[in-house]
Order: sequence, then structure tokens, then C-alpha cells
Amino acid sequence: MEENFELVDKFGRKHNYLRISLTERCNLRCTYCMPPEGVELGPKSQYMTADEILDIASEFVAMGVTKIRLTGGEPLIRKDFEQILRSLASLKVEIAITSNAVILDKYLDLFKELGVKNLNLSLDSLHKDKFSTITRRNYFDKVMANIQLFLAEGFKLKINTVLMKGFNEEEIIPFIEWAKDKDLHVRFIEFMPFDGNNWNMDKMVSLAEIQTIVKNHYPQEQVLRIADKPNDTAKNFKIEGYKGTFAVISSVTNPFCDSCNRIRLTSDGKLKNCLFSGGESDLLTTLRAGGSIKKLILQNLAQKLKVRSGKNTLEDFKNEDWHKTNRSMVRIGG
Ligand code: SAM
Ligand code: SF4
Repeated sequence: MEENFELVDKFGRKHNYLRISLTERCNLRCTYCMPPEGVELGPKSQYMTADEILDIASEFVAMGVTKIRLTGGEPLIRKDFEQILRSLASLKVEIAITSNAVILDKYLDLFKELGVKNLNLSLDSLHKDKFSTITRRNYFDKVMANIQLFLAEGFKLKINTVLMKGFNEEEIIPFIEWAKDKDLHVRFIEFMPFDGNNWNMDKMVSLAEIQTIVKNHYPQEQVLRIADKPNDTAKNFKIEGYKGTFAVISSVTNPFCDSCNRIRLTSDGKLKNCLFSGGESDLLTTLRAGGSIKKLILQNLAQKLKVRSGKNTLEDFKNEDWHKTNRSMVRIGG
């Protein structure tokens, strides 16, 4: 990273990774993410156009961002997704995408052409009925077929699996076994609280519980801890002899804020310096008024707190009033 890198907060963390939410809309309705009726959308003019996304992203790249992830809502359902992807690809940064994989096949050729290789795909159950229960939609067969297709095409896939007590924690071992012969990285995610998702601590499956389930199933010497990469949000593991690997993203019980390098742009053009921050800076309004978004970006980053936007302890997490101060996940961009 260059000496004069600008996106540094007061704790010395360098922010070279921008996550852009392209939309608040989604073709699924995952219970932990959004209400059954979807979220209330604002007028179209409230959201960034393809050109505005490029303008804002270009400013970040000029300030030192080297990786951009497109997320949402479901990023692939935006009608101008191809235009957005092509324009961002011209910025010469690493591009990654998080998707629910329902319409992934539509973009196979485009991703190949533009060299987009890293995809994080959500899948919370290996059972069709449970998939429908959690997503409130019946796209299991499409999602599984698309995962197989992209694996066969040599993409680097990570599977995001949100674990919920009494729902899918008994699928931890089946997921690890499913990846045994596949070049797949399964990431078990602790269920996090956001506005309207009825979170409580008892519904969450923690890192410690996941480790116990794994240790009870496999001989201890076969469970190998893999070295984490710089800025990794996950604790990585492997079962000896297995091709696939797995990890736990423990944002609730073991945050990884020390090495955080992420900043987030919502689809309505607001900058969030943390997934858990209630405060936002309105880049889009400033951009439209011809003002300096660079100044706003630097001010926003200067306000970034050390750990989870001030939610330092597990006790802080239990405060339901706080859950309402943040947007729902689908409106932030996970
Ligand atoms: N629609 C895309 C998808 O599902 O991959 C991208 C957006 S989604 C909000 C991004 C990630 O956030 C998904 O992997 C999803 O499982 C995760 N997520 C959503 N709500 C969550 C919650 N309450 N706790 C933990 N992870 C959550
Ligand atoms: Fe849609 Fe992704 Fe949220 Fe599920 S997790 S409702 S797929 S945005």
C-alpha cells in the first residue's frame, strides 16, 4: 500500500476495501435479513444510478481502494447490472460479488469475460424444504445447479451459511462433508441483529458452539486451523484430507475489528464506516450538488470507532433499542 494512502482511521486501520450495495431489492426473503413483504422502497431518484456508482467508486479508487465488492439486496437483479460491472471493471480493481445465486447463470459469460472470479454465494441449508422455509421462496434447485455450474467453470466460491439455533445447526457437519471433494470454502456466520430481524442471543449459534460440534464429530488431530489471511473476517479450518475448507465468521462473539479494512456504500449513496454504525454520510446528495465527497469520506472515516461501532460487549448486543438504530441488513448491503 502506498505511503500516502489516505483512507486511514485514528486506529491506523487502512481501508482499501469498498463494499457497494447496488439495491435494496431481492428475489428472496431470508427471514434473518428482511421482512416477508420486503422493505419499503423509496422513489427511484433516491438511489444511485450506474454513472453515480462509477463516480463515487472512482473517488475511492483514487484514494487507494483496491477491492470492490458488489452486494445488496440481490445485486444481480438490477437491470443495469452489466453496465455497472463493466464500468467498475475499467477501474482496474479486484471485483468480487456476493449473491444468492438464483440467477447467477445469466452472468457466467460476462464474469468470464471481465475476469470476475471471486463469488460469495449464500446457502443456509442443503435441504430443499428448509431452504424454502428460510428464504420464503422455492429456488433451491436453481441455486444448487448454479453452484455446480460455477464450480465446474473454475470460479473461486465461498458459501455463506447463517446458522440459527433449532433450524440448521445440525447441518454444520453435512456442509463440511458436502464440501469434502469440492473446491469450496463454507463460512458459517453467527446470526447478527439488525432492524426488524427479531434477533436474540438464544437464536445465535456461536463460534464456540460450532467448534464443539466439529470437535465432537471429528478426531481432534484431523481438525486443522488454517492461517488467516490479512484482514480476514473468518477463522479458518480444514479437515485433514478434505479438499473443501470451512470457517466461522464470529462478528458477535469474536469480532475482527482490529484488522478491519472495509467501508460500505449503501444503494442510496450513504457511507457507513462499520456494519453496525447507525451514523451515515450522505455522499450521493453531496455528489449531486457538486460538492466534495472526498472531504465527507475522510470525515466519516475519522469517526470510526474501535470495535463494532461502540458495541464493545455481548451485553451491548442484547440492547434491543440499539438494533433499531441500524438499518436492516438488506438495506445496508451485507
Ligand atoms: N443477496 C446476497 C446474498 O444473500 O448473498 C447479498 C446480500 S446479503 C445481505 C449478504 C450476506 O449477508 C448473506 O450471506 C447473508 O446470509 C448475510 N446476512 C444477512 N442477514 C444476516 C444476519 N442477520 N446475520 C448474519 N448474516 C446475515
Ligand atoms: Fe436477499 Fe441476500 Fe437478504 Fe437473503 S440474505 S433476503 S438473498 S439480500
